[in-house]
Amino acid sequence: MPDKEKKLSLGEKIKQPIVDILHSGSGQNERPFLKKNNESNIPGLYIIGDLAGAPVIKYAMAQGYEVIEHIATLPNVPTGRDGDGADLNDVLIIGAGAAGLNAGLQAKERGMRYVVLEKEQVANTIENFPEGKYVYAEPDTQPPKGKLWLDGAVKEDLTKRWQQIIQDNKLNVRTAEGVTGVEKKDGIFHVKTPKGEYRAKRIVLATGQRGNPRKLKVKGEDREHVYHRLYSPRKYKNENIIVIGGGNSAIEAAVTLSEQNKVYLSYRGGEFARIFKDNERKLNGAIAAKRIEPLLNSNIMEFAEHEATMKINRGGSDEIRKIPYDHAFVLVGADVPRDFLKSLGLKMENEWEGSLLRTIGLSLLAFIGLSIFGLGFGGHASFFGIDLSFMPSWVGALLWAAGMIGMIRFGMKGDRFAWLGVSFFVWYTIYGVKVGKGEEFWPYKDWGYKFLSFFDRPWSFWYTVLYTTLMTLFGLQAVKRWGLDRKDKFQIWRYVCLLSFQWIMFFLVPEFLFQYAVKFQWVGEKLASDSVFADQAWRSYGLVYAWPLFFYTFFYNPHQVWVVWGVLLTFVIIPIFVLFHGKRYCSWICGCGGLAETFGDRWRHLAPKGKTSIRWEWMNLAVLIFAAVVTAVVLIKDIYGVLYGAADMGVTLYRIYADVWLVGILPVTLYPFLGGKVWCRYWCPLAKLMHLQSHLFAKRKVSKFKIVANDKCIGCYECSRNCQVGIDVMSYALKQQVLDNETSSCIGCGICVTVCPMDTLSFGNGNGHAVSAPVKLMNLRGQVVA
Ligand SMILES: Cc1cc2nc3c(=O)[nH]c(=O)nc-3n(C[C@H](O)[C@H](O)[C@H](O)COP(=O)(O)OP(=O)(O)OC[C@H]3O[C@@H](n4cnc5c(N)ncnc54)[C@H](O)[C@@H]3O)c2cc1C
Ligand code: SF4
Ligand code: SF4
Repeated sequence: MPDKEKKLSLGEKIKQPIVDILHSGSGQNERPFLKKNNESNIPGLYIIGDLAGAPVIKYAMAQGYEVIEHIATLPNVPTGRDGDGADLNDVLIIGAGAAGLNAGLQAKERGMRYVVLEKEQVANTIENFPEGKYVYAEPDTQPPKGKLWLDGAVKEDLTKRWQQIIQDNKLNVRTAEGVTGVEKKDGIFHVKTPKGEYRAKRIVLATGQRGNPRKLKVKGEDREHVYHRLYSPRKYKNENIIVIGGGNSAIEAAVTLSEQNKVYLSYRGGEFARIFKDNERKLNGAIAAKRIEPLLNSNIMEFAEHEATMKINRGGSDEIRKIPYDHAFVLVGADVPRDFLKSLGLKMENEWEGSLLRTIGLSLLAFIGLSIFGLGFGGHASFFGIDLSFMPSWVGALLWAAGMIGMIRFGMKGDRFAWLGVSFFVWYTIYGVKVGKGEEFWPYKDWGYKFLSFFDRPWSFWYTVLYTTLMTLFGLQAVKRWGLDRKDKFQIWRYVCLLSFQWIMFFLVPEFLFQYAVKFQWVGEKLASDSVFADQAWRSYGLVYAWPLFFYTFFYNPHQVWVVWGVLLTFVIIPIFVLFHGKRYCSWICGCGGLAETFGDRWRHLAPKGKTSIRWEWMNLAVLIFAAVVTAVVLIKDIYGVLYGAADMGVTLYRIYADVWLVGILPVTLYPFLGGKVWCRYWCPLAKLMHLQSHLFAKRKVSKFKIVANDKCIGCYECSRNCQVGIDVMSYALKQQVLDNETSSCIGCGICVTVCPMDTLSFGNGNGHAVSAPVKLMNLRGQVVA
């Protein structure tokens, strides 16, 4: 791509790394953008099944049923026999997998005019499962919806039943007729296939994700004997075969092929991290028997007629190796059919289109406008030292409105940078003013705090009200989403706990109850009459917030009650809690985590993923060290007077950068773009302190906190997608490896356990075994043997 790089303008060069970070949450599981009832950005075009994030057959079937039930409620459906013309379908369904077939059956049931178009054969994805693979009908708690049959069965039995149902219902399904294009003209969809054109009022896209094998994009990959699928492994005998890939499909292919051939297994990674435990065992056996030669850290450079060139990294130096081969199988997964989807005009979620520079310009306009507007309330209109006080306040209001309306309008047209600008504007205002009266950030200096203080209450009070309100409103939605809808008691308790802590310990106690406790002497006469204690209601946040999250625990003349409690909480209670519950403080107790789990919940799937995003976690160690150093300097400054200046500077710096920017402005600004856990994962010093403790306990095998997996994982990625701290839970599940704080920064929210459609994951029962579903033993090809 060097040519492309050269063409990038300066603006694009600045924008690209930002886009890369903002896009890092989508990982391998990019999905189309969907609205209510699974409708895409194109009105009348619905997306269901695997492509819409339904990870198992039962959910795909349910979506097929539900989308038709929704369409049936729309006006003029069904059209009726003599309606808009013989060839106009009420609905055209693309893809005859679990979702598409159930949609077709339901459309027929509802008397709609419909057709199902299938590129290959009915249930192609399932037909391509290995022979005799047992297909699970999870989740057990939900009955299948619609007319398609589903129960646990080997794939041959399942597809036979489906064929029978298709025949019995005379389903109008046309196989070997893939859709190549869709166009919408005058409200009617025109659907193109190699065999002709169809017209429909609505489209249901159910093409799954598996039909688009990923390519290496190397020279010679299009040769006849280089394949991207393996159908009949037994047909190859006494040949040299290269298998490329490190996932289960590649390993299963390599092991089976190695029974009759010499196999080279090339993988670009340093270990096979995402494979089933059983596959790992079989692979090790084949390697020990010299039937497979593994080539780790290797990259194919070219497929020539009879030999492939490979670059192998041997600990720093590269070796170029030529490998003779008769056949090569590139089995490196499947891509979302992005090009196909884009060609239909569909929008993907988390797409970063728009202009960063324009957003910066409009934000500045809004801020400059506010600076001028503030003149009327005691502010000083200026911009980078330029005095703007000659302008009247109303001009400021107009400029502010122009900037904001501009950003919102561009945002509504799909510019995500504009929404980023709006989000930044809102949270910068909230925190830039909360920083304190007279200390407000530009453009609120000397007027913002007063302007936002109502009814004799300071802005910091209203901020707490806003925070608690947001948490409550979105918390109730989250309880419904994860707890009530799924009948998951763990999640119901978790959210009840989070909301209770917020309401009682982070709102009622510091804002009201502490004062009552002093006034009515609930804390005893002695404490109540001690002005050092009585005048510092804000310290009651420290009842639950431990140092260094509550950074001021030991500063500013604390009463000795708070010092004793602070030491006890941070160095005794928290470590004992961590021993039993890992970092659950972050997902059950803490208000910062609480806002992320409630207000930030809808964006949890956007958490940055991958190794680089995990490496960024070093930042909270830096904040912890900084907090510890500043605390130490403050505590010894009375002994070493020379440290007074350093102590003051340290506290000021920490206050502005950690307590305002890192905990306040930046994370919440980024909620809709990087998920809710930016502060907790990357900057919170208490999270790091707990992590260090939990890591040590896990390493010493005394930690009681862990997540374990049984053998039912189907690699659907739902757990990894929904982990707010970007852990690739699926890679643990596939290998049935224990997930704890020795190898991950898990905070024990349990969403991965809740979301798993196969009941694969559970919190360990202390001996490393899953406590949920019974374990079925399977052989290499996924057949149940016990
Ligand atoms: C290895 C593996 C094991 C699994 N095991 C289980 C299990 O045990 N239990 C379980 O419930 N789920 C399992 N799953 C998941 C399950 O396969 C999917 O959830 C399910 O197949 C999704 O159904 P779908 O209809 O959305 O998509 P698909 O089943 O993928 O169907 C999509 C259909 O669309 C067709 N198509 C694609 N493009 C076009 C086009 N342009 N025009 C027309 N047609 C097109 C395809 O040929 C295909 O037939 C497993 C998945 C894998 C990969
Ligand atoms: S691994 Fe699971 S329990 Fe841990 S943080 Fe991620 S989603 Fe929550
Ligand atoms: S463990 Fe994760 S990848 Fe495996 S089935 Fe459950 S949600 Fe899907």
